[in-house]
Amino acid sequence: MTPFSTQALELAPWSVTKAKLVRSCPLAWKYKYRDHLPEDMPGLVTRVGRGAHSILERTTRGEALDAAIDAAKAEHGFSAEEMAGIARFLEGIRAFGATLARFRATTPIRRELCEEKVGLTAALEPAPFFGNNVFFRGAWDLGFLLEDLSAAVIDHKTGRKGDIKWHSAQLRAYALMALCHYPELKKVWLGIHFIGDAELVWAKPSSADVIRGQVRSWFVGWINDAAERASFPDPQPVVSRFCDFCSYRPICPAHNSIEAATERLVQLSAKRRRGAG
Ligand code: SF4
Repeated sequence: MTPFSTQALELAPWSVTKAKLVRSCPLAWKYKYRDHLPEDMPGLVTRVGRGAHSILERTTRGEALDAAIDAAKAEHGFSAEEMAGIARFLEGIRAFGATLARFRATTPIRRELCEEKVGLTAALEPAPFFGNNVFFRGAWDLGFLLEDLSAAVIDHKTGRKGDIKWHSAQLRAYALMALCHYPELKKVWLGIHFIGDAELVWAKPSSADVIRGQVRSWFVGWINDAAERASFPDPQPVVSRFCDFCSYRPICPAHNSIEAATERLVQLSAKRRRGAG
């Protein structure tokens, strides 16, 4: 039995990004999830963010920082400009390594989860991330199952530090996923690690009862509402600060002449067809 609407089921699989994007810009959502247009080359900010994440993942798994930097550079082929951008995060990565070492030394941990990919079915049962029955999916940057039957899930961010409330949808969705996958949990801690600021900010922990009640009910409404917005005909661009990070800006009518946007759209559509062929 599923609590989700027919629209939500038709548009699955969902993710935090997918449910948030339709709220920030329905047109960008259409380009990405309905038209499946390939994204233009990721910009400097995106590439730098990927680099910082990659190095952090490697050091979390135990690689020395210098080795992690070399490996990430070899894997992604970062330019000198990108490496200069990544260098701004190294202090934060070092500091997180020290915090992590202290945490591991002082906290009874049952299991550590690094880059854990998890999914849920439409009945909110556990599902493989790539499973045919997956309705919602997400990847935890870092998680811990603790001996006291609580869990801690941490998400790394390379963006500017802001109020943790900005990330509340992601944190609540992760709390629900954690409890669906590990029903023995009594409490879930959720943290955002702002790498550039070398700061790990924790939200108030959620009890299993709160997650099963309030969070579950919020989640169902959140996804059903996103599906309804995504089903509106004729989605319009919504200009905001997110445009600076939008891969579809070159084809967006809000930022280009109709001629330029149309020409680039034709190119991207052809690229998609070639990719599909
Ligand atoms: S550039 Fe801005 S307005 Fe245009 S599609 Fe992207 S997010 Fe929407």
